[in-house]
This record gives sequence, structure tokens and C-alpha cells, in this order.
Amino acid sequence: MFFGCVDQTKTSEQKNNTELSSEIKKAEFAIIIHGGAGTILKQNMTPEKEAVYEATLEAAIQVGYTILKNGGTSLDAVQKTINVMEDSPLFNAGKGAVFTNAETNELDASIMDGKTLNAGASAGTTTVKNPIDLARAIMDNSPHVMMAGVGAETFAKEQGLTLVDPSYFYTENRLNSLQRVKAKEAEKKGKVDTESALLEFYDFDIQNAKFGTVGCAALDKNGNLAAGTSTGGMTNKRYGRVGDAPIIGSGTYANNATCAISSTGWGEYFIRAQVAHDISALMDYKGLDLKEASKVVLDKVAKLGGDGGIVAVDKHGKMVAEFNTSGMYRASMNDKGELTIGIYND
Ligand code: ASP
Repeated sequence: MFFGCVDQTKTSEQKNNTELSSEIKKAEFAIIIHGGAGTILKQNMTPEKEAVYEATLEAAIQVGYTILKNGGTSLDAVQKTINVMEDSPLFNAGKGAVFTNAETNELDASIMDGKTLNAGASAGTTTVKNPIDLARAIMDNSPHVMMAGVGAETFAKEQGLTLVDPSYFYTENRLNSLQRVKAKEAEKKGKVDTESALLEFYDFDIQNAKFGTVGCAALDKNGNLAAGTSTGGMTNKRYGRVGDAPIIGSGTYANNATCAISSTGWGEYFIRAQVAHDISALMDYKGLDLKEASKVVLDKVAKLGGDGGIVAVDKHGKMVAEFNTSGMYRASMNDKGELTIGIYND
């Protein structure tokens, strides 16, 4: 299994300098995004495809960067950056959401404010164009943290959010993925009751269809952290399945005392490992730095049998992208406007 770790903030020379210095230099602001982790292999990509992904990641992060540079809040930066990726068919969120077994699209999202520890999340919506907007509205305008299904959609309507016909989420690519997964499932029929057959099936699913969830973590000029995540979940999901993305503490977590995190990967494992909160807790209770804490928690996920990754920024503006898959679409920008974009584990 691959293990990718990218310190998004410093050159190696700068890193050594920091290690020698006991003083931690705080960045004015910082922003990091992911567009999903999974089996993303160079041999399956073309230079044209890479360029399209990179351009979309750049367009998205520029939106958040500009908000932060102009003194806006990390919450706004996270939300508006995610909006760009939700509106792109490239990612498994909003317009590019994967299909359920019933050939519908059910979307999940969450957002968290590191200053107040307020949070909002929505699960299983089918008509809300930008689920991260709904998560934000739930946080800002309701006494609740999480809403699901029809109720969440009623609230979205009351809030004046943009609603779309469910057919808006149709993309041919995602339907083809569903059909491939279903064909594989039919092949395995009668065998999925054994754990290994189940794991093999999910592995196929992950490799073929699952990456593309989007997320963002940011630090603003006021020292406030925020994180958000938006997804269509897992191809072929059934029975109202909800993954980690809308679960505060698994898919998303932010706390000004530690860091802001957005996860992507095999949701069932990320829920069980409580990935995002666990990283923050290791920093809070054990004094680990963000990179160490992220590695410990992703190791825990791998030991359980899951895979995926996280992007995160700590209270000093240090950014980390960590993943145990062959790739994770990602980008970061620091307060000097320096952009880093990555796809593979290199
Ligand atoms: N974590 C998401 C889920 O399990 C999927 C992903 O990140 O690719 O719903």
C-alpha cells in the first residue's frame, strides 16, 4: 500500500530552518483543498486530463485564496472554494456526484467553524445544487447540526437555496461507473456474504468509481480555522447509506486550538476511526504536530482495512496533505500566493 505525505508549506531548506528554530512562524493565512483520494494512476491519465483537473483545482483554490487575502473568513473561503468543485463534473460532489444502486444521486456535506466549534451537515439530499451551502445554512440558521433527506430539502427551500431537478446530477461517466460496479456485483452474487468477497468487491468499487469527494481547510487573517467536505458518497450505495463526509469528527473537523481537516476515502473506515477529530485530539492532548498526528490516524485507518487521505491546516498555517492511496487530487496556497498542485503519490 502506498503512503503519500506531502508537506505543502515549505521547501526542504525551509523545513530544516524551522527544525533548527524553536520559534514557530505563523502564516497570515493558508488554504488547502482535495478533490478525492483513490487509485489515481499516471498510466490511466492523459496530459489533457491532468491539465483539466489541475486547472479546476487552481480555479477553485484561487476563489478561497482571494477571499482570505482580502480579509474574508475561513468559513467563506471554504464554502466558496467547495462551490467551484461542486459545480464541476470532474469531482464526486454536486454536479459530478456518483450514482446510488437505484441510479439516483444522494449528496452529503459538512462544514465546521474552528472558532466557535459550530458545525452544520446534511445527508442524502437529491435536489440541493450545492450541499455545502445547505451545511452552512444549517450551521448558521438552525439550532441543529445535521439534517437528512426530505427534511433537509424542506429547510434548504425555506432558506432560499438553489434547488435543481435530480436529473441535474446526471453525468454519463458516473452512470458508466455504476454499471461497471453492478456488473462486478452480479459476478460476485452469492459470495458477498464472506468477508473476503465483500472486501474484494469494495476494493473494486473504490478503484473504479469512488474518488472525487471534495474538501477544503483554511486559516484566515483573524486566526480562525474552518473546514468543509462535500460528496456524492460511494458508487452503488444503498439503503440510505451515509459516509463520513457529513459526520463531524470523521469527514470534517475544525478547532482553533489545533487544526482544520477534511477527509476523503472509504467512509465506513473513516467513521470508525473518527479520523478528523482524532487528528485534532492527538495534537490537543498529546502535543503531536499536524503531520505526525495525520500519519498516526491514517495508519489506524489502514490497519482497519480502509484507505483514503486528508488535507489539513494547523493554527500556524502549516498545511499537510496525507494519503495512503496511489493518488489524491490536491492543491494548496500560502499567504505569498504560492500554489502547489498534486495528483499522484510523488
Ligand atoms: N468518503 C466518501 C464516502 O465514503 C467518499 C470519498 O471520499 O471518496 O462517502
